[in-house]
Amino acid sequence: MIKTRFAPSPTGVLHVGGARTALFCWLYSKQVDGRFVLRIEDTDLERSTAESVQAILDAMQWLGLDYDEGPYYQTQRFDRYLEVIKQLIEQGHAYYCECSRERLDDLREQQMAAKQKPRYDGCCRDLGLQPEADRPVVVRFKNPRQGVVNFNDHVKGDISVSNSELDDLIIARSDGSPTYNLSVVVDDMDMGITHVLRGDDHVNNTPRQINILKALAAPVPEYAHVPMILGDDGKRLSKRHGAVGVMEYAAAGYLPEALLNYLVRLGWSHGDQEIFTLQEMIDYFSLDGLNKSASSFNTDKLKWVNQQYLMNLPLERIVDLVRQRLDLLELAYDDDFEFATVVDLYRQRVFTINELVDSMLYCFQDFAAYDEKAAQKVLKPPALEPLQRLLDLLAELDTWNAESIHAIVARVTEELEVGMGKVGQPLRVAVTGGSFSPPIDQTVELLGKDRSIDRIRRAIEFISTNHAS
Ligand code: GLU
Repeated sequence: MIKTRFAPSPTGVLHVGGARTALFCWLYSKQVDGRFVLRIEDTDLERSTAESVQAILDAMQWLGLDYDEGPYYQTQRFDRYLEVIKQLIEQGHAYYCECSRERLDDLREQQMAAKQKPRYDGCCRDLGLQPEADRPVVVRFKNPRQGVVNFNDHVKGDISVSNSELDDLIIARSDGSPTYNLSVVVDDMDMGITHVLRGDDHVNNTPRQINILKALAAPVPEYAHVPMILGDDGKRLSKRHGAVGVMEYAAAGYLPEALLNYLVRLGWSHGDQEIFTLQEMIDYFSLDGLNKSASSFNTDKLKWVNQQYLMNLPLERIVDLVRQRLDLLELAYDDDFEFATVVDLYRQRVFTINELVDSMLYCFQDFAAYDEKAAQKVLKPPALEPLQRLLDLLAELDTWNAESIHAIVARVTEELEVGMGKVGQPLRVAVTGGSFSPPIDQTVELLGKDRSIDRIRRAIEFISTNHAS
């Protein structure tokens, strides 16, 4: 059974780099009918917080990255780590070390002065020390002295590291707590992880982890270390570059399916295809298609992908998201409001759900100002007479529907002997604040009588005030 895992440290929100790793793990497990494990690596008690755990779980849920197992919490597995540390000591794969901080500092200085790589010299390795009550000791793993660690990384290719390069790393601190490399190894072993996909900031840990796995006679998983995501300046993506948290994109009106699509392409390709359904991602994904070089996060591209999804997803899905946003903004709407027409019109012209909602806000609340260009072009004295006439006729209209409104617009154009645009466009700017809307008769119907009349009146006042001679 193939098993992947996503193992975030809950020291902050889920950022796009983590989300991409999670997505790759998720896709691969789905493709091979394996299992996807979520493991919260919360052993750093000072930096891990319950809010971060929740933020990660929320983001995974928003993205739809469901897991087959977990979340496991490393803090709930301390006994197991201690048991394995004990086992390693008993089997001669680990030892107690009592080297003081001063000794280690001196050693490091000497090595640096001699232009050597700082590393533990194995001073306590063969002393057979036992812990004693008042003497602080750590536990170190006995890294093999001979030979080479070799693994074939799905992204980076063949990697060989000589054991002489690796020192005896600490697996338990002086307070007894296990270190990162130990807990990861124990978890990967116990959870039966067959494929480790993670950021390449961990590639240097891998030879050490493989050595510990071997000492435990555990199978060694396959590895794929994916390159970092960079910002547009070529530096590692960080807060400096703007939004990095997944939920910031949610709040900005991006769709989870679009963000996933963007992220999958950021580090993986399938020919030159850009837009993938989730099923296509699952079907086409392959570890060997992962990019070898780092990719840069490009907000314009993400916007474009989001726009593709806005335009092409089933209308009901977009309407649903629009409603959610209106609810969030606490804007009331009638249950029978004709969302489909309005949403379908504007979704072609925007990049995000938030922009989409902004462009139809006039349906739900009075606008504070007219679109400047539209007002300049249309709300001028020649519009006064058509607007006044429309106001009079619409005020008397009993049957408020698109047909009857259309008849009134037509009647005014005839009476005043002007083209449709000279009547319809002032009406449009008056009631929507801008120069783009669904057919004007439908729009006026949608807005209802009171709102429409009120807004026409305001436009007349606006023209009179701004163009008073
Ligand atoms: N917890 C580590 C991190 O968040 C990941 C460890 C791993 O994937 O092995 O960077």
